[in-house]
Amino acid sequence: MNVAYKIQSACECQVLLEADLDEHRLVISGTATRGKDVESAPANSVGASAARFDVVWHCPFCGRNTLRTFYAGALQRLPSRPAEAPAEAPAEA
Ligand SMILES: [Zn+2]
Repeated sequence: MNVAYKIQSACECQVLLEADLDEHRLVISGTATRGKDVESAPANSVGASAARFDVVWHCPFCGRNTLRTFYAGALQRLPSRPAEAPAEAPAEA
């Protein structure tokens, strides 16, 4: 499945939560990163077809279900060919 979007947020416990979304903004996979520890973090999109939708992660580090709201119009589509993950996200304009 092609990753169309990548999103990220911070958990209450300060780990970095990330998810890969397909073109319908459904979660393909989620991860939680603390320092060099990267764990799989189950995640789900809620109301993915709406302009504002939520993604819920189950944080493997603190056990919280962390819900974050995203604005679909603000997502930047990734190039369709797979690329190495960039070391750093480009700065927002
Ligand atoms: Zn957490």
